[in-house]
Amino acid sequence: MGEEEAPARRLSSIVLITIVVVLAVSASALYTAFDLYMRQDVASGYYLLIGFLGLTFSIYMLLQTRRRMRRFTLKTTPITTTITCQKCDFKNLRDFERGDFILKEVGPCTKCDGIMLISAIYRELTEKESREERLFP
Ligand SMILES: [Zn+2]
Repeated sequence: MGEEEAPARRLSSIVLITIVVVLAVSASALYTAFDLYMRQDVASGYYLLIGFLGLTFSIYMLLQTRRRMRRFTLKTTPITTTITCQKCDFKNLRDFERGDFILKEVGPCTKCDGIMLISAIYRELTEKESREERLFP
C-alpha cells in the first residue's frame, strides 16, 4: 500500500506548488492592473486578463486534483477475505493479505478439526457504491 501511495502524493504536491505559483502570479497581475487602472493606463486591461486567466487556471487545477484524490481513495477501500471451514461451515472474516487466493488452505478450524479454505475475496463497497447498486440492481 505504501508504495502505491507515494507517487500520488508526490504528484499532488507538484500540482499544489504550480497552483500556488500561478495564484501568486495572477495576484500580482491583478495588483498591477489595479495600479495601472488608477493611473488610467490602457495596459491595465492586459494585466486584468492575465490575472483572471491565472485564477481560472488554478481553480480548475484545484478541482482536478480533488477529483483525482477522491478516485484514489476509492481504489484503497478495504478488501475482505472470507475463510470457511469445509466440515462445519464455520465462517471467519479478516482483512485481505498478500498471497490470498480462493480455495487456499489457511490451517485448521478453531471449532472442529476441519480444514479452513478461503471461500471469497471481495472489496467492501463504499456508501456511495452500495447506494448505486440498490438503484441499479
Ligand atoms: Zn470447522
